[in-house]
This record gives sequence, structure tokens and C-alpha cells, in this order.
Amino acid sequence: MEKQKLEYLNKILLDLPIAEALALVITAIEGKKVFSTSFGIEDQVITHFIAPHANNVEVFTLDTGRQFNETYEVFQRTQNKYPLLKINTFFPDEQDIAAYVSNRGINGFYSSIENRKECCHIRKVKPLQKAIEGASLWITGLRAEQSQNREGMQFLEWDKTNQLVKFNPLLNYTLKEIEHITHIHNIPINSLYKKGYLSIGCAPCTRALAEGENFRAGRWWWENGKKECGLHIHSDKNY
Ligand code: SF4
Repeated sequence: MEKQKLEYLNKILLDLPIAEALALVITAIEGKKVFSTSFGIEDQVITHFIAPHANNVEVFTLDTGRQFNETYEVFQRTQNKYPLLKINTFFPDEQDIAAYVSNRGINGFYSSIENRKECCHIRKVKPLQKAIEGASLWITGLRAEQSQNREGMQFLEWDKTNQLVKFNPLLNYTLKEIEHITHIHNIPINSLYKKGYLSIGCAPCTRALAEGENFRAGRWWWENGKKECGLHIHSDKNY
């Protein structure tokens, strides 16, 4: 998509509430459109507003095989609340997992950053690549205040790595606003959220936040530096 069109849409999106923003972008961008959900509070808000567009957007989740049972519970409650919305599940390659467990150990991701990244690559990045193959638009629940790496983002931006347009409709929302939306629309949220798990990933790699800690502090808490798993690399600004 041309840079001018993205810039034009980005200006309009500044003043639109989420329902209108989703409707506009889904209509304006042609081709396969996907939305990835991990059933976090932001993704649940998007799911709610994307449900009326079930025929135009392919919704998917990545089942890493290491998730909390609470995540599967909210997955089920989401399916119950939005029965017309089909949520496709992508799994890691069986042979990749077998080789990893054999070579690095079942919990080998604690041993080194390389091991951790390799596990994320096998369980998340590779299945993601399969899920977004051929897509022209990828809708995400990213918010600017979530982590350092996510500052400077735009609503619509060209993702050079994946060769598609990424749409971050909740970019400027605060957590308080997100919570308010879930409350007024009775949107199901992960029961771990109220126990201090603001960013929920795999069970062995996520802990609750202590008061005052930033959003991503509970992810891969034993590592220093940026807390990203490779799904959202925000560095490519070439159109
Ligand atoms: S978050 Fe942990 S268990 Fe999940 S894919 Fe990454 S390293 Fe593996």
C-alpha cells in the first residue's frame, strides 16, 4: 500500500472510536485481513468490536502448548459469547518441539536468552508466519504505553518483516479506558488479569506484576533488556 494512503488513513483514525476505526480500515484495505488474539484484555476488546466483521477478518490464536489453563478458559468463554466468530488455532510443528525438548530440555528456555528465543521462535513465530501468510492486513492489540519498544508506533504502519500493513487500533488507549470498555460491554477477560497478570503469555514465562512495575516486567522476568518474543518487531518504517 502506498505511503500516502497510510498517512491519510492515519490522520482520519486519530479521531475515530474503535468500532468506526475497524470498520474504516477493514473496508479500505483489500485482500486477506487477519487478527491475532492471545486473549489478553486488549485483544478481548478488539474481538468484541471485530465480531460484526466475522466474514471479513480471519481471527487466529497461537497455542504454544505452554499456556495457563485460565487462558484456555477465557478462550472458551469468548467462543461462547461470540459464536459466529471463528477462531482458528495454530500449533507449533511437532518435530520442532520434539527436537527442542531433546536438545535443550523441556524448560530449556531458562538456561539462556538464545534458548528462550529459540523456543519462542518454534512455538510462536513459525506458527504466526503460517497464520499471516498471504495477508495484507494484520490487526493487533498493541498499545503505545505497553513497552519501550512500542513507542513511536502508528495506527497503520508497514511491517517490512512480514510484508503487510499492521493495524494497531488501540494504540492511544490507556489501560483504564480498556478496562472501562470491557466493563460496559461485559467482555470476558482472563481471570489472571485481576491477580496482577497484565501481560499474559506462556505459564512458565509469565509472573504477576508487583505494584509499580511496568507492563512487560512479568514476562521473561529473569532476563534483562527488551521483553519481546519476536512477534512484533517495531523497527521497520520503510514503505
Ligand atoms: S514464552 Fe516461554 S514457553 Fe512460551 S514460547 Fe517463549 S520461551 Fe517458550
